[in-house]
Amino acid sequence: MRKIFISTFTVLFILSFISLQFLSGEETIDPRLWEKARKIHEDAIVIDTHCDTPMLMLERNLDIGKRSSENQVDLVRMKEGRLDAIFFAVFISNDLDEKHPSKKALEMIDEIHQQVEKNSDLVEMAYSPEDIRDIQKKGKRAILIGMENGGPIEGSLRLLRDYYRLGVRYITLTHNGNNDICDTSNPGEARWNGVSPFGKTVIEEMNRLGMLIDVSHISDEAFWDVLEISKVPVFASHSCTRSLCDIHRNLTDDMIKALAKKGGVIQLTFCSFFVEEEYKRLASENEKKIEPQKKLLAEKYKDDQDAYWNALIELGKEVAPPAPKIEKLIDHVDHVVKLVGVNHVGFGSDYDGTGSVPRGLEDVSGFPLITYHLLKRGYSEGDIKKMLGGNFLRLFEKAQPRGEGSSPTP
Ligand SMILES: [Zn+2]
Repeated sequence: MRKIFISTFTVLFILSFISLQFLSGEETIDPRLWEKARKIHEDAIVIDTHCDTPMLMLERNLDIGKRSSENQVDLVRMKEGRLDAIFFAVFISNDLDEKHPSKKALEMIDEIHQQVEKNSDLVEMAYSPEDIRDIQKKGKRAILIGMENGGPIEGSLRLLRDYYRLGVRYITLTHNGNNDICDTSNPGEARWNGVSPFGKTVIEEMNRLGMLIDVSHISDEAFWDVLEISKVPVFASHSCTRSLCDIHRNLTDDMIKALAKKGGVIQLTFCSFFVEEEYKRLASENEKKIEPQKKLLAEKYKDDQDAYWNALIELGKEVAPPAPKIEKLIDHVDHVVKLVGVNHVGFGSDYDGTGSVPRGLEDVSGFPLITYHLLKRGYSEGDIKKMLGGNFLRLFEKAQPRGEGSSPTP
């Protein structure tokens, strides 16, 4: 069954004119606080560091220039949500690691560039923090590229440099499986007990190029290795805190403290499974029930990984428990702030790569609700702007090559 997404922003915008106290979902919105939040949000540089929309561009011929009711991100709703910059993930499953995955990665990168060119009145490609600021000033949205799983490097630093030249500005070192760079956070047998010798050279070259290292999806051991090897701050593009939702994909308090000490940032994901313990428990029970259907899908799409992932997401939606309240996501912000202060937290939605998300954030137009809730929790305008994008920009700036390598030959 196809789901119709109603733009959260549109609903809020219309409702703000017809009532003093209005509702978003089950939530009562204070119009004065909403107006204040809207102003802060429009003024801020708002950045989302992870969405899987490119997968749908290839799989479903998605045109990001048109409003879509079948996914979570397009340029129309991105503008409504006043999101200034987004990282499109070149997601390549670990299942393809030994099957020449660079071909698919290159095709996906090409598709991103083509769609940006086609919509050049609305968006531009960004390759640096400066680009993001410049594009925002022009009133356009910035599109950046991240790669989810370093499998497409195929053991070749030459390919890594090529990806940089094509615009890839971060790499999530692996995904749900171990690869030749490091081990995954997914439970199972470790291959390297952290980062591999080749992974070490990848990290060093990424540092030299000014490519960010993403620690989401990697094992705890790999996380600690990355922190030791990388000369610049690193980040988690889409993870939450393990103290509030106990799952391997989230970071422990010790990890968050160490990440922050190095100048890094945890970009909180909206994926309900990583946001709320209760949701995770109920969804895990459902997972067991749909195991036979998952096996059938794996068989049906054994030659088409994209179709498999899409079908899994759709199946997940059908059996999903009620989505968490948005407050549950803000609880993770509070937790990080309590641990390390306001300079080390931001947002990486995982839109179009996850099923359930907190209520009100059903699509990219919902972003202003986050600002509203941060304000409601008592955060200052300055703090909120840091969380919405300032912290990530600082990290991105620090990773830029300097001194001798200030204009690296990539
Ligand atoms: Zn992911």
